Amino acid sequence: RVEVLRLGHRGERDKRISTHVALTARALGADKIIFTVEDEHVEESVKKIVENWGGNFKFEVIKKWKEYIKNFKENNGIVVHLTMYGANVNEIMDEIKKEFEGKNILVIVGAEKVPKEAYELADYNVSIGNQPHSEVAALAIFLDRLFEGKTLYRKFENAKIRIIPSNDKKQVIIKKDK
Ligand code: SAM
Repeated sequence: RVEVLRLGHRGERDKRISTHVALTARALGADKIIFTVEDEHVEESVKKIVENWGGNFKFEVIKKWKEYIKNFKENNGIVVHLTMYGANVNEIMDEIKKEFEGKNILVIVGAEKVPKEAYELADYNVSIGNQPHSEVAALAIFLDRLFEGKTLYRKFENAKIRIIPSNDKKQVIIKKDK
């Protein structure tokens, strides 16, 4: 089980990217997104996707993120903070994957400057290369490495819309409401 904690969200400016963090988390294998700032627009966009495209992806907003992290660690969880200052994913991924067997992972991504407590509470501070880029890209690469591409085949339960992959035509199955 994998959860993603998005630390911070700067209102209007972050609406799209926060939504993309959540959708990327869902599409690449996470079970839950946790935000620290309420945003109705983001919540509605994510819920609409889940309603149409299926699955059991959870959405939560919390205020006390440090407590959430501590609690997660006490309940058989390991915490991975994605940051450009961290240890290179290429070097540390094998160790994380070994620990993931039988444990849950909480992946933290930031919006603006991440408080130092996040670095301290994390079991692993991991960089997807040491250049600044994007929380969406960092999360996608981390999850893809963790699941070794397998979640790209994942089928979501109760989907109203499903795509049949094709190189040369658009094939979509749409389930009508009864
Ligand atoms: N300047 C901010 C700081 O000093 O923490 C980071 C802002 S960045 C736009 C937002 C988030 O993207 C970061 O908190 C981190 O989670 C992620 N990120 C960006 N580049 C990364 C990289 N090279 N490796 C891992 N995560 C990265």
